[in-house]
Amino acid sequence: MKSDIEIAQETDLKPIEEIAGKLGLEREDWEPYGHTKAKLSKTLHNKLNDQPNGKVILVTSINPTPAGEGKSTVTVGLGQAMEKFGKKAMIALREPSLGPVMGIKGGAAGGGYSQVLPMEDINLHFTGDLHAITTANNALSAMIDNHIHRGNSLNIDPRRIEWKRVMDMNDRALRQIVVGLGGPSRGVPREDGFNITVASEIMAILCLATSLEDLKARIAEIVIGYTYDEAPVTAGDLNVEGALTLLLKEAIKPNLVQTTENTPAVIHGGPFANIAHGCNSIMATKTAAKLSDYVVTEAGFGADLGAEKFLDIKSRAGEFNTDAVVIVATVRAIKMHGGVNRDNLTTENIGALEKGIENLAKHMETIESFGLPYVVAINKFPSDSAAEIEYITSWCESRNTDVALTDVHANGGEGGMELAEKIVEKTDAPSQNFNYIYDLNDPLETKIRKIAQAVYGADDIDLSEKAKKQLAFYEQEGWGKLPVCMAKSQYSLSDDPSLLGRPKNFNVKIRELRPSIGAGFIVVLTGNMMTMPGLPAKPAALNMDVDENGKALGLF
Ligand code: ADP
Repeated sequence: MKSDIEIAQETDLKPIEEIAGKLGLEREDWEPYGHTKAKLSKTLHNKLNDQPNGKVILVTSINPTPAGEGKSTVTVGLGQAMEKFGKKAMIALREPSLGPVMGIKGGAAGGGYSQVLPMEDINLHFTGDLHAITTANNALSAMIDNHIHRGNSLNIDPRRIEWKRVMDMNDRALRQIVVGLGGPSRGVPREDGFNITVASEIMAILCLATSLEDLKARIAEIVIGYTYDEAPVTAGDLNVEGALTLLLKEAIKPNLVQTTENTPAVIHGGPFANIAHGCNSIMATKTAAKLSDYVVTEAGFGADLGAEKFLDIKSRAGEFNTDAVVIVATVRAIKMHGGVNRDNLTTENIGALEKGIENLAKHMETIESFGLPYVVAINKFPSDSAAEIEYITSWCESRNTDVALTDVHANGGEGGMELAEKIVEKTDAPSQNFNYIYDLNDPLETKIRKIAQAVYGADDIDLSEKAKKQLAFYEQEGWGKLPVCMAKSQYSLSDDPSLLGRPKNFNVKIRELRPSIGAGFIVVLTGNMMTMPGLPAKPAALNMDVDENGKALGLF
């Protein structure tokens, strides 16, 4: 089997003007960024404002396992299949972060014959959006430290600064640092630390902003820390929102690229799916929806985190409808949920499927509780046996659930035709039953409880003393009407990553809350969340190289 990068490098990429032409864009609507990438301009955004939206298809999955589910791959493959089906289709994805690319993932632009290209660029520096976000984030840090150094008229308590520096790399050595050492001319010493760029609130803001003006207003609302009297201090108090927005004026424009079959794709923004909402930008999804009949997009991790936040946070902020959902499952991952360990995944094991499929069942119920139509996509791997595929298919059919075997990794769009057909059928008869899991007017505690019970299947929530105090303080500050962004283990429906399948009889422990007021949500931490990952024992970076002609090697 050819590697992703071999397939990518053999693909005949069309010049980006052809892709823009396919979408009916005029020259002023896009800005070339090399031969095969472009930024979509503000003119286009304004022009499309009154256009109706095409259908929005959300791709989500069961709880991820180390076996890999292939959500991005299916998203790209389904977009390609839609095009083959005769629909005007686009794909909207997140921008990969360099940290995981150099660490475990080695690439995050789909796989096989369903990739977005040029994958080397997309996986590396792309159009510089992540670097701009890094710079804007760190400009705010520099302004905070300068403010304190210059007399601290805002009375900021250096021990209560929540705003961290960021960089787009997995670097555990920077998690906790001390800045300002070296005497009075070097600033005021205080504890600080680095997060990975995708964990920056500025990333979440960029992805939820609906315009440059909205971006600026949201940046002003960022709570950077607290005064000695424990009153919140915002970026607006430091008057930096103008400069930070200036640094982001290009990064806010969605990026246009193409797939292995030249289907147009927008790739824009990529916030963490735990302490943030884990979806590409609203501007990218809405632009794609206005330019096509069908936009296929994805949300990070499983339906308990990604889909819940896509629907409760992103689609609410962006005021758009989601028309149908694809739940990706694999034989391998279902077997892992059924107790098989990673080394035995290629052996047929129907017994494990019978147990593990309960995980899929819960995610189906979640999408049903949102009132949305869905199709289960079995992402086919070479090791799947016919009996295993048959088991999942009949299990779905016995529940009157539409299911499609997808083989887009091996066959591109051709391998996703059944899925495309079923999704088109679902969206031909629009469902009017959509509802959010919680109401914005619910108190924060009720919102958290509703998600824990309806989406995770928990009995209840257990609030720590700290969380209880914070809930009272946040309601008093007027933050109670914001949506909540749950930071929970992606591996389990519960907050315990070791509980696979469908855990029952558990409470979700709520440890702490954090205000992301600029992004417009309250982060709810259920365990220790890592916001600066480390590199693994054998980083993917060790396989990477570049030849004398500048050709990338080993990028998956
Ligand atoms: P996710 O979006 O769920 O993290 P990706 O789509 O990025 O998953 O896929 C993860 C990895 O698995 C990629 O390297 C991709 O090439 C590979 N992969 C996905 N689907 C298949 C498949 N059906 N067969 C073989 N490899 C696959």
